[in-house]
Amino acid sequence: MGTIAALAGGVGAARFLRGLVRAVPATDVVVVGNTGDDDVFHGLHVSPDLDTVTYTLAGAVGAMGWGLAGDTFRTLEAYERYGEATWFRLGDADLATHLYRTSRLREGATLTEVTAEIALAWGLKVKLLPMSDDRVATVIDVASAQGGEPVRMAMQEWFVRERAQPPVAGVRFEGAAEARPGPAVLEALREADAILLCPSNPVISIGPILALPGVRDALRARREQVVAVSPIIRGATVKGPADRLMAAAGIEVSCAGVASIYADLCGTLLVDDSDADRVGDVERHGVRAAVAPILMRDADGAEALARRALDLVS
Ligand code: GDP
Ligand code: CA
Repeated sequence: MGTIAALAGGVGAARFLRGLVRAVPATDVVVVGNTGDDDVFHGLHVSPDLDTVTYTLAGAVGAMGWGLAGDTFRTLEAYERYGEATWFRLGDADLATHLYRTSRLREGATLTEVTAEIALAWGLKVKLLPMSDDRVATVIDVASAQGGEPVRMAMQEWFVRERAQPPVAGVRFEGAAEARPGPAVLEALREADAILLCPSNPVISIGPILALPGVRDALRARREQVVAVSPIIRGATVKGPADRLMAAAGIEVSCAGVASIYADLCGTLLVDDSDADRVGDVERHGVRAAVAPILMRDADGAEALARRALDLVS
């Protein structure tokens, strides 16, 4: 098949990629990971989506789909003594990754370099590229109750601390317009024989990547080679707040709504068998629809889904 580029968020993407690396040689895969969720906790640079991909492909991810399996939280518990907010859960072994990343960044390494070092240490064969070495922050503007100015929340504050409850007035990617894609990102999109949009949150996982200068144009130029997997099945997310964020943006929460977001840059959208009746609504956006079981129950299901996605690239 040649090389395959995959745009990825966190948990949904990681589960899909676990199947992809069973379908093709992992060394042929370049993953472009979202860093809009990155934030600093206790002075440490945390890259939740990159780490979820790394830990999942290493077979070490925790049961929730993030963090490390079997990790403990003694450091965070001890940290509470100092009155620090510890709502963002960072396990003891997981902390080693954030310590390493932060110290390397402080030494002057780029996020691209550090991410490659971490991936190598975990035995990954795919090339994992952060979408950018520049800081891009996904921000949720929360509607204020009295109809006043919206309140700015970092993505993790809204999603984790507030459990995605506050009503969303808007989503912004601060810094995206001035950021540059990571040094190998555009080249990977230009040269890949297939480009896959993983079943990730289209608003806050794939959205930040598409907001970087040049990325959308690079995908438009390769539209026939771009296949997306819908993260929405029968009008609902499998997990996470994609439904709330799509609705807040005035987008129908359905595979057809996903097609409307990707219409200019994606030739084919994989929708679930149970959404077969929505094929016409997807294709009205100019995106071909392909129907398959897209709920990944296990690694075999993810592998079958990845094979199907690749078959759709002519
Ligand atoms: P996050 O950063 O951890 O939220 O990860 P992603 O954005 O990569 O993944 C979240 C998205 O994955 C949600 O919109 C889910 O609906 C979707 N998702 C999770 N599991 C599956 C699955 O088995 N099949 C499909 N099609 N989508 C899934
Ligand atoms: Ca994420």
